[in-house]
Amino acid sequence: MAPTLFTSALVDTRDHHPELRRAVAGVVGAFGRKYFQDVVQRDEKPTELWAALAENGFLGVHIPVEDGGGGGGLADYNVVIEETAAQGCPLLSLVIGSITAPIITQHGSADMRRRWLPGIADGSLRMSFAITEPDAGTNTHRITTTAKPNGSGWLLNGTKYYTSGVDEADSILVVARSGEADASGRHRLSLFVVAADAPGITTQDIPCAVQAAEKQFTVFFDDVELGPDALIGTEGSGLRQVFAGLNPERVSAAAINNGIARFGIETAAAYAKDRVVWNEPIGSHQGVAHPLASAYIGVQQARLMTARAAELFDTGSEDAGEVANMAKFAAADSSLVALDQSIQTLGGNGLALEYGLADLWFVARLHKTAPVSREMILNFVAQHSLGLPKSY
Ligand SMILES: Cc1cc2nc3c(=O)[nH]c(=O)nc-3n(C[C@H](O)[C@H](O)[C@H](O)COP(=O)(O)OP(=O)(O)OC[C@H]3O[C@@H](n4cnc5c(N)ncnc54)[C@H](O)[C@@H]3O)c2cc1C
Repeated sequence: MAPTLFTSALVDTRDHHPELRRAVAGVVGAFGRKYFQDVVQRDEKPTELWAALAENGFLGVHIPVEDGGGGGGLADYNVVIEETAAQGCPLLSLVIGSITAPIITQHGSADMRRRWLPGIADGSLRMSFAITEPDAGTNTHRITTTAKPNGSGWLLNGTKYYTSGVDEADSILVVARSGEADASGRHRLSLFVVAADAPGITTQDIPCAVQAAEKQFTVFFDDVELGPDALIGTEGSGLRQVFAGLNPERVSAAAINNGIARFGIETAAAYAKDRVVWNEPIGSHQGVAHPLASAYIGVQQARLMTARAAELFDTGSEDAGEVANMAKFAAADSSLVALDQSIQTLGGNGLALEYGLADLWFVARLHKTAPVSREMILNFVAQHSLGLPKSY
C-alpha cells in the first residue's frame, strides 16, 4: 500500500471514513498498480481484486442492510472508489454499481431488490447500464430503443452503444421508450432489467484507447421478449427514475479521477524527492514543485466538492444534482492537470509503463466526456444555476 500524502480530514464526512479509507487502501494496495496493468495488458479481468473488494463488503457499502449491503450511502462508496483508484486500480465497474444499485433500491419491486441487490453487494452479480445510443447520444429524448407491450410483457428493439462491461454482466439496465409520444412529440421512457444472455441480444466490441479492465460494446436488441417483472418502477417514469442513478454516477466518476490524480501526484512527489540531475533533487526546483503543489490544491478542491455532492445525495437534497455535476467537471479537469504534471515530473520515465502514469491518461480523460460531457454540465449550470436561456 502506497503511503498517502493527501489529507483526508478535509473531505471525510463521517466518523468511520478514515478507517474505511485505510481498510480499502490495505486491500487494494496488496494488488497495486502493477497487478492492474498486467491484467489490462493481458486482456483479462481483475477477478481476484473484485473478489477481495466483495469479501470485505466494499462493493455494497451503499446498499441497504436489508438488501445485503453495508447500509451506508454514496458518501461511503465515494471513499471506496477513490481509494481503489488511488492504489492504481481505477475500476469503471464500480461506477456502474453506483447507477444500478440506487435505481433498484429506490424504484425496484421487492422481488427485484431480492433478485439483484444482494448479488451486486457480494460481487456475484453484475449489471451493465445502457442509455447511450448511436443516434441520440447526449440527447436522451431522442433514443429510439423501444419496449412495446406484447400482452404479457414487452418486446424490446433497438441499439445501445458504449455499454460498458456487457461481457461480464448478468443483466443490463436498459433505458427505453415505451408507449406513444406526448403532445410535444416526446416519448416517455421506462427502465428495464434485461438478462444479458436473453435471445435476441447480440454485442459488438468497440475498440477503445481507455486502458481499463472493462470493455465497451454496441448492444443490439432484436425482438427481445421481456416479462412483466422486467419493468423497474412505473412505466413512463424512466427519466425521473434514472436520476436516482445518474447523480451517483457523476460522483463516482469524479471519485475515480480524484483517485487517479492522487496516484499521479504521489508517484511524482516521491520521484521528485529522489531524482537528482544537477546537484539537488529535481523537487527543489520551483518549476517542478509549484505545478505539483498547485495540482494538489486543485485535486483537494475537487475531492471536497465530490464528498459534498455525495453527502447531499445521501440526504436527498435538491442541490445534489448541481453539485454532482460540478464535482465531476472539477475532478475531470483537475485530475488531467495533475496527471499531466505528474508525467512531466518523471521526464522520459513519465511515459514508461513501469511507473504506471501514462496509461492512466485515457481513463482520466474519459470523464471529461462521460458520463455527461463538460459542455452539457456548462449548459446545465448556465441554465439552472445562472438562470440563462436554454441554449439548445
Ligand atoms: C469508455 C466509455 C464508457 C462508456 N460507458 C457507458 C455505459 O456504460 N453506458 C452508457 O449508456 N453510455 C456509456 N458511455 C457513453 C457516454 O456516456 C457518452 O459517450 C457521452 O454521454 C457523450 O455522448 P455521445 O458520445 O453520444 O456524444 P454526443 O452526444 O454525440 O456529443 C458529441 C459532442 O458534442 C457536444 N454537444 C452535444 N450537444 C451539445 C449541446 N447542446 N451544447 C454543447 N455541446 C454539445 C458534447 O458535449 C460532445 O462533446 C461510455 C463512453 C465511453 C467512451
